[in-house]
Amino acid sequence: MMTDVEAPATTWVIEAEDLWRIYRTGTREVYALRGVNLQIPLGRFIALKGRSGSGKTTLLNCLGGLDRPDRGVVRIFGRDLSQLSEKELTQWRRKEVGFIFQSFGLLPTLSAYENIELMLRIAQASRKEKKQRTIELLEMVGLAKWMHHRPFELSGGQQQRVAIARALANRPRLILADEPTGELDSTTAREILSLFRQIVEEEKITVLMSSHDPLVDGYVDEILPMKDGQIVRER
Ligand code: ADP
Ligand code: MG
Repeated sequence: MMTDVEAPATTWVIEAEDLWRIYRTGTREVYALRGVNLQIPLGRFIALKGRSGSGKTTLLNCLGGLDRPDRGVVRIFGRDLSQLSEKELTQWRRKEVGFIFQSFGLLPTLSAYENIELMLRIAQASRKEKKQRTIELLEMVGLAKWMHHRPFELSGGQQQRVAIARALANRPRLILADEPTGELDSTTAREILSLFRQIVEEEKITVLMSSHDPLVDGYVDEILPMKDGQIVRER
């Protein structure tokens, strides 16, 4: 007889328990996260959806160790981020998480090739490894022909492809993408969403993306609706 076995805790890529984040400026308090709970397994493409101000960026930053919640626990592959010092967190982030932003965040004076290679240089990969991996990544995102172009010589979609390749450089199994299609027209946005879909399938990684675009619905495995600092499940 087949039995359903509960997955052990360490098979979750992301676990968040009762996350709160309160921004304090002077006497004003903004409750950006109000008790977020999450469990996300490996090999999924998931969208956080909600209007501007609902807490998407704050949540992604807390999950990726760019910010610390005021209360609650974040575990990524079973590791409790609150146990890491700032220095350890920075090192952990470089290895374990790839970040992608709305405005691409490429270095303008470097070519596509150099933007990707830089990540491998930071990780102290060997010369041979750097070259191999950079070419492999450029091919993966369909930009081999454009490798020597600098960001201003590339379209928005192409720039986002470079950013995706760069985020994947050190083989993280988690990619956090904050409105990655926010500055793209809908045709280009679809191409980028298909690319994420393909990467999730082929590389067996998890991509958690924020968006307020209805377009994403057709590409993701799951939608997590966010409202006023909470994930509101429609069940
Ligand atoms: P989203 O990404 O969904 O637009 P954010 O996480 O950026 O939402 O913001 C959630 C709430 O927190 C908003 O009310 C926003 O104004 C506020 N907020 C975000 N960052 C800061 C900050 N650094 N200082 C004060 N308030 C902030
Ligand atoms: Mg945001």
